[in-house]
Amino acid sequence: MLTSICGINWGDEGKGRMVDLLSEKFDVVCRYQGGNNAGHTVINERGKFILNLLPSGILRENVVNVMGCGMVIDIKHLCGEIAKLREHGIKITPENLKISDKAIIVMPYHVLQDVMEEDRLTKATGKPYGSTRRGISPVYADKYMKKVLRMGELKNPALLKKRLPDIVAWKNMTIKAYGFEPVTVEAMADYLDTYGAPLKDYVIDTGIYLNNADKAGKNIMFEAQLGALRDIDYGIVPYTSSSSTIAAYAPIGAGVPNLKLTNSIGIMKAYSSCVGAGPFTCEYFGEKADKLRELGGEYGAATGRPRRVGPFDAVASRYGIRCQGADEIALTKLDVLDTYKEIEICTHYRLHGEIIDEFPFSDVLDECEPVFEKVKGWNCDITGCRKREDLPREALEYIALLEKLCECRIKYVSVGAERDAFIEMY
Ligand code: GDP
Ligand code: MG
Repeated sequence: MLTSICGINWGDEGKGRMVDLLSEKFDVVCRYQGGNNAGHTVINERGKFILNLLPSGILRENVVNVMGCGMVIDIKHLCGEIAKLREHGIKITPENLKISDKAIIVMPYHVLQDVMEEDRLTKATGKPYGSTRRGISPVYADKYMKKVLRMGELKNPALLKKRLPDIVAWKNMTIKAYGFEPVTVEAMADYLDTYGAPLKDYVIDTGIYLNNADKAGKNIMFEAQLGALRDIDYGIVPYTSSSSTIAAYAPIGAGVPNLKLTNSIGIMKAYSSCVGAGPFTCEYFGEKADKLRELGGEYGAATGRPRRVGPFDAVASRYGIRCQGADEIALTKLDVLDTYKEIEICTHYRLHGEIIDEFPFSDVLDECEPVFEKVKGWNCDITGCRKREDLPREALEYIALLEKLCECRIKYVSVGAERDAFIEMY
C-alpha cells in the first residue's frame, strides 16, 4: 500500500501528529519535498518533538524513514536534529534513516541569499514573501539552474571539491550584487566536511530501496510538508513554498515515479491558520483572532511566529482537497472550538459583488471578501471523546456540514495533541 498524507490548507494542519498516529500501520515513512522550512510537532509517550527535516516515522522503532530526492537538505540542521533526538534516546542509524543520493544540499549561501532577498523586498516594496529565511527558494532555483550539490556527492569528496569552486564563483556574483561579502571556497569545503561527512553513510538510491520494499509488500507512507495552498504551482503564488506539496508528486519526490499511490489522506484543520504573508480571505482580526489563536496555540513550530487565524474556509479547503486528490480526510483540532456557542464557517467568497464558490486565481484573492455562516457550537469539552458516539450532536453536525461543503468523507477527527486523542469515524 502506498499512501500519501498531505495538507489541505495553508500548512500546520497537524500533519506531524497524524503521520505519527497513522504510521503505526506503515513500515516506511518518506518525506518527498521541502526542507527545514516547516515544523511538525509530535507529542507522544516519549516527549514533545519538533521535526523539521526528519520524517515523523523516526519516532517509531520499527519504521524505516526515507528522505527523498525532492527534498532540499540543510546538512547542519539535519545533524543538529539527529543529535537532539538521540539525546531523547531515539535511535537513528542507516538502518532506519535513508537519504536519497539525489536530494539537494542547502548551503550557507542559500540561506544568505534568502535573507538578502527578503530584506531587499521589504525595503523596495514593503511586501516580503514571508520566507522562513532558510534558503529554500534559492536552492530550488539553483536546482533548475543545475548549479547544486547533491547528497550522493558527499561519497566522493574529491569530485565534490572539484565542482565547488565554480559554483561558489557563480553564487558570489549574486552575493556581491546585493553588496554583501562573498563566501570562500575553503569555508564551504570545511562546511561540507563538518556536516556532510557524518551523513554520508545514510545516503543511498532510495528508488531501489522503495521499489524493493513495495515488492516485499511493505506499506509505504509519503509525508508532505506544508499544504496545498503553499504548493509552488497550485498555491497562493508568490506566498508559497518553492516545492510541490501535492500528493501526486509524492512518488516522484520520494524516488519511485514508477509507482502509483493507493490512496491520499488529506489533513484538514477544523478552522484556518496561515503563517506569514499572503492573501487569507477568511482571516479574523482583533479580539476574535486573538481568542482563536490562543485557543489553538497557533504559533509557528519552526519560527515561533504568531499565525494568522480564521474560521474554516470551505472554498479554499474544497480546492485543497481537489489538488491533493484526497479520498478521505483527517479533521484536526476540533477541540479548539469547544468553548464557542456559535461557530462561523466561511462558505463562499464575494468577488466584485458576486458570490463565488471556486477558489480563484491567486491575484484576485486580495479582492475577495469572506461570506460567513453561523452554526450552533457544542460548547463543551470533547477532549475525552474517543468514539463517534461520544461526540455531542452539534459536533457531529459540524463534521457532517464540512463533509458536505468539501464533498469528501472525514475518516478521523482529532480532539487533542496527544497520540490517542482521536476518533475513527467509520
Ligand atoms: P503540521 O506542520 O501540519 O505538522 O502542524 P504543526 O505541528 O505546525 O501544528 C499543529 C499543532 O497543533 C501542534 O502544536 C500540535 O501539537 C497541535 N495539535 C495537533 N492535533 C491537535 C488536536 O487535535 N487538538 C489540539 N488542541 N492540538 C492539536
Ligand atoms: Mg507546521
